[in-house]
Amino acid sequence: MPMREPFLVLLDRDGTINIDRKYLADPAGLDFLPGAIEGLTMLRDAGAVFAIVTNQSGIGRGMFDREQADTVNDHLLAMLSAHGIEIAHVALCPHAPDDACTCRKPAPGLALEAAEATGLPLETAWVIGDKTSDTGLADAVGARGILITDDPLASPAEHFTAADLVEAAGIILAEG
Ligand SMILES: [Mg+2]
Ligand SMILES: [Zn+2]
Repeated sequence: MPMREPFLVLLDRDGTINIDRKYLADPAGLDFLPGAIEGLTMLRDAGAVFAIVTNQSGIGRGMFDREQADTVNDHLLAMLSAHGIEIAHVALCPHAPDDACTCRKPAPGLALEAAEATGLPLETAWVIGDKTSDTGLADAVGARGILITDDPLASPAEHFTAADLVEAAGIILAEG
């Protein structure tokens, strides 16, 4: 298959790439979800440029600090890189829900930051995540969204659903 023009894929972190440990502050808790590397490899080979867009309200809630969050992210990026997957940008919201910031998903800030950092448009971007705040982010910036879920009834009809990143990659390759 010929490689397409580079396109942006905005990836949620917890529950999408790695197992959601709830307020993860220790790199030792990073474990890939089944299909994560395979799916990301499929997308990479098709021209995807990856950015992580992650709400880390544990910072705003005082459960861990920014340095700990950055350590977890750096570790995850190294784990991905060991499998040939490079992340172009990590956009992180450190705020608590009642901070009324402009970056906590589904607010558009993290996607705008990733688009700016990579120089790629949001019109051809995809957002993949396990919460409706992720598909909501897609809606907020005019991107397409895929909800990672085991529940076929979990998603509104206007979004795609996939069990894992392999399925998500298959959708993106099929949709173009
Ligand atoms: Mg998540
Ligand atoms: Zn924020």
